[in-house]
Amino acid sequence: MPRPLVATIDIAALGHNLGLAKRLAGRARLLAVVKANGYGHGLTRAARGLRAADGFAVLTLDEASLLRMEGYTHPIVLLEGFFHADELPEVARRRLQPVIHREDQADQLIRARLEHSLDIFVKLDTGMRRLGLQPSRLRDVLYKLRASGNVGTITLMSHFARADEPDIGVAGQLSVFHAAARGLDVPVSLANSAALMAYPETHGDWVRPGIMLYGASPYSGATGVELGLLPVMTLTSELIAIQTLRKGEGVGYGARFVAPETMRIGVVACGYADGYPRHAETGTPVMVEGRRTRTLGRVSMDMLHVDLTGIDNAHIGSQVTLWGAGMPVDEVASAAGTIGYELLTALAARVRIRET
Ligand SMILES: *Cc1c(COP(=O)(O)O)cnc(C)c1O
Repeated sequence: MPRPLVATIDIAALGHNLGLAKRLAGRARLLAVVKANGYGHGLTRAARGLRAADGFAVLTLDEASLLRMEGYTHPIVLLEGFFHADELPEVARRRLQPVIHREDQADQLIRARLEHSLDIFVKLDTGMRRLGLQPSRLRDVLYKLRASGNVGTITLMSHFARADEPDIGVAGQLSVFHAAARGLDVPVSLANSAALMAYPETHGDWVRPGIMLYGASPYSGATGVELGLLPVMTLTSELIAIQTLRKGEGVGYGARFVAPETMRIGVVACGYADGYPRHAETGTPVMVEGRRTRTLGRVSMDMLHVDLTGIDNAHIGSQVTLWGAGMPVDEVASAAGTIGYELLTALAARVRIRET
């Protein structure tokens, strides 16, 4: 028997979450964001579960090329465009749609010698202060792009910094966007998962959900299940040792948990080298034999400790759910001071994957 740690990927759950996203999107078309190895689920596996999307969004040319080699003919958007102009011939050959987010990128595209024109996204910085043209430069840049034989259709996009904060939302950035885009007859793309779920006025022509497709929440205040999503990745392992602590004994590195009385604890085959967050200390929720309990002490590289108080039937080989079905990744993330996105994308390569 191999090490019992397994990430089970529920392909049908991807379809369920995509269905919900499509219903929310209404008439807008949907780019399924599959960057970061499909948010840790495997790029081609995620694409298979999401093939009913209208297109895909990835980060790199390698990811996009892999999807083309797997036979996907969908529109594929490169979210940060090309990193160097020498990528442009392959971008064109593969019929990818780069995001143009700097003026010198636009100039490189205009100067390139391509076999045919590219459909592109032009990104506007409406307040995130990360990528995108400043609104004052938009019209000039669009003018020269349109005059270039290298450019086909142009979609105008932007990205929200605070769509996941209900009290703040998107109004400020949206008004900057509308002011900059006034009178331009172009399709638009704005919404990530949080905006797709909460702000219909952002839907435009293309929505770009990522995290919700994998069943995790874009908000800190709610779990994916509470939003009607199904978890796609369930990370399970087993108890590989059981210890009985006497009052006053410490557990693990740094003895960060000290038994207040005699208690039974379990050792789980999962550690930070598997992607379990080391910042999660005592109290992070975990499920043993279908019962919720908590982690104890520091997470080790290959193992962690759990409290077996009240779980009298726990034994060597008992099933442990670290996150996924029955144990929202959002709750584990919040106990570790992070977000579900980070846990899912950080799943280590050594974790075995099983599909259902
Ligand atoms: C990652 C990304 C998304 C998806 O965001 P989620 O919060 O995962 O829905 C959308 N747009 C851009 C530009 C991104 O980089």
